[in-house]
Amino acid sequence: MMTIRSIVLYKAFEKARSSASASVQTLLEHKHLYQSVEVNISVDREEVKNLVDMGDEYATEDLLFVVPRGQYDKYIDAGLDHSRETLEAVPWRFWIDQPDPGDINSASLEYKFLDIQLPYIKVACDFCDDTVQPHNPVQVNGLKDGVAAELGSQKQLFFFSYLCQSCKRESVIYVVRREGKRLTIVGRSRFESVPIPKAMKKLPEARRFYRNAIIAFNTGRTLASLFYLRTLIEQYFRRVIAVDNDERISGEDLAKSYRKLLDKEFPMKFDTLGNTYDSLSDALHAACDDEELYTSARANIEKHFEALARLPISQAAGA
Ligand SMILES: [Zn+2]
Repeated sequence: MMTIRSIVLYKAFEKARSSASASVQTLLEHKHLYQSVEVNISVDREEVKNLVDMGDEYATEDLLFVVPRGQYDKYIDAGLDHSRETLEAVPWRFWIDQPDPGDINSASLEYKFLDIQLPYIKVACDFCDDTVQPHNPVQVNGLKDGVAAELGSQKQLFFFSYLCQSCKRESVIYVVRREGKRLTIVGRSRFESVPIPKAMKKLPEARRFYRNAIIAFNTGRTLASLFYLRTLIEQYFRRVIAVDNDERISGEDLAKSYRKLLDKEFPMKFDTLGNTYDSLSDALHAACDDEELYTSARANIEKHFEALARLPISQAAGA
């Protein structure tokens, strides 16, 4: 029998399924090891009211006659409480092909699990030169529903397997822990790939230090990431002005010599890396975990090399 309570429950599960699926996409595309997302499960009261209003299609007598319109809110509130309890009680399952959730009119609707469709994602692939590629969920051997372990009430561990659609080489398996509405990446079968901007791909310093800077930052070691960014700049300076690593020379002098190699227009229009180098040095001397500096320094470095493609330094300098 279709009641306000069952309509609310149906909508709550529908919403929870889509929120959880979207949250997994955010988690895998934008978060790193030991970072989390919270699945937002809330039911739109107006949507439920509209459904109840479509009495001809959905409601049975108990809705049309027993519950007057003025009392909708009261019944919806009760339905929301009941839905929350039901949602908290059921284990989650993640599917490559989510089972049909059933029609709202079906008498045999069951709410024993929250069945969630694994989303398509776009992440960098280390086999595809660290470029961002579409990845599809694929089945993990022996696991249809992603559940790797039940750890306790509302605590579960999942395996999600994703295959790059460009190379189809080897899927990445993410280990994701659920605690209540929170999903956390707690492991992965290969370390995350770090896309290097096009303008920086040919720089030997970028391959080593830019990559390490990002990995350090993504795993919570901000100070180390600042050190890698500064090393990137210094090693780049030394290479293009041909100063050996064992030769003692201040960063300021390196920056000055480098500036002379740049096109006359360059310093007026773009960052020349000297100031970025200084800011990074100050933070390192003060042992300051400055996340904003990481973000701005990284952006400055990326923009510098992008601009360099338009106003290149002299070929003789060897960059
Ligand atoms: Zn690939």
